Amino acid sequence: VLLAGDAAGLADAASGEGIRAAVESGQLAADTILAAGGVYSSDRLTPYAAALADRYGHRVPEGASRFVPQPFRRAVAPALMRSRWFARHVLLDAWFLKAG
Ligand SMILES: Cc1cc2nc3c(=O)[nH]c(=O)nc-3n(C[C@H](O)[C@H](O)[C@H](O)COP(=O)(O)OP(=O)(O)OC[C@H]3O[C@@H](n4cnc5c(N)ncnc54)[C@H](O)[C@@H]3O)c2cc1C
Repeated sequence: VLLAGDAAGLADAASGEGIRAAVESGQLAADTILAAGGVYSSDRLTPYAAALADRYGHRVPEGASRFVPQPFRRAVAPALMRSRWFARHVLLDAWFLKAG
């Protein structure tokens, strides 16, 4: 499976813009698939990960979240995203729309 765009987490963490990254990563994925020549083994598809890292770098969490260990973030994030209050006031208003 090759993840592109939002599925690959490529949208800009600060602005939420992800159209360009979705198009570009889709093209990189298509290039990788064509280059695999019909043999979709992991060694033929791994160059896609390298191409993404080359284009976007290795993602480093921004802000205070970089001080929170990844396993803890993975455990807590789903619960936060299920919270209507968090989605409305933090995710949408504060992080995405930067209201106030
Ligand atoms: C309100 C809002 C405003 C935004 N404004 C901007 C902006 O100004 N500039 C910018 O660059 N980005 C913006 N973005 C982000 C941008 O829309 C996304 O980063 C971009 O669309 C990601 O493209 P994608 O192809 O990865 O995913 P998507 O565009 O989400 O495409 C995924 C597609 O897969 C389909 N799908 C899902 N599940 C299945 C399934 N099981 N089977 C078949 N199809 C399925 C969905 O219906 C959808 O059509 C905005 C996002 C939002 C929500």
